Amino acid sequence: MNLSDIRTVREVMNRYGISAQKKYGQNFLTDETILDTIVEGAGISSDDTVLEIGPGLGTLTAKLAGAARKVVAVEIDEALIPVLKHTLDGFDNVEIISADILRCDVRELYERYGTGDGIKVAANLPYYITTPIVLKLLEYSDIIRNITVMVQKEVAQRMQAGPGSKDYGALSLAIQYYSDPVVIADVPSDRFYPSPAVDSAVISLESRENPPVEVPDVEYMFRLIRATFNMRRKTLPNALSAGISELSRAQVEKALDAMDLPHTVRGETFSLEDFARLTELLYIKS
Ligand code: SAM
Repeated sequence: MNLSDIRTVREVMNRYGISAQKKYGQNFLTDETILDTIVEGAGISSDDTVLEIGPGLGTLTAKLAGAARKVVAVEIDEALIPVLKHTLDGFDNVEIISADILRCDVRELYERYGTGDGIKVAANLPYYITTPIVLKLLEYSDIIRNITVMVQKEVAQRMQAGPGSKDYGALSLAIQYYSDPVVIADVPSDRFYPSPAVDSAVISLESRENPPVEVPDVEYMFRLIRATFNMRRKTLPNALSAGISELSRAQVEKALDAMDLPHTVRGETFSLEDFARLTELLYIKS
């Protein structure tokens, strides 16, 4: 069954009496080349265990199953489970999990279905929860080797953005701390059924072997980063003293003095290295 063919997609949906659910971000991929780009971009081989988020009708799942040892596919929409059982009938290496990925224990899935050498994540992500999903996956960077996902083009730009750019923010820093983001394909909206309102991109997030900066407490650094970008137009002393109750403006100003920076500086110009230095200075003092 060729699920990247739009007529087949319509046929399958008609047969099961389903329609694309907007509330679940259902835009089914109908481009064979892009499917191959995701599988190749993830570097999937026959030893690999792959976690797919949102298999939908099973289009990408079938491609992944053809290349991997095992595919664990987590789908929230219960109406799609019988469809997936039908479309993936020919594969004995696919495990369909009926669940919300945000409530799944990925480590537990890995221990149950993996072989001990990490997992790869591949997905055409639901756009309404891309950021929470990706941030959740980053927490498992010790077991996830790489993440290759379709996201809104604008989100891909935010993931890759550097200091000073309007797209730069907490997401850019989280992604770049844990991985090396590279856009591997731009995907116009007409490659999906139904077409989303925005263009998309496939981004590859290769997990880093070692973090790019050393800090005394990573969670504390991300608290500083989140507080900074929650009030991105404010100066750093104002944003941090407002966002973190135990920090005073004077403490932040003293840290900026140690970094030879003016008190008027804004966090949006801060690189990851700057946030790491700030963490060192403030963490010791807090
Ligand atoms: N993989 C299919 C494809 O490429 O055609 C479908 C991709 S569609 C953009 C997103 C998929 O994610 C849908 O199947 C949707 O039901 C599923 N989904 C949405 N929210 C989810 C969640 N929280 N957990 C798991 N799956 C979810």
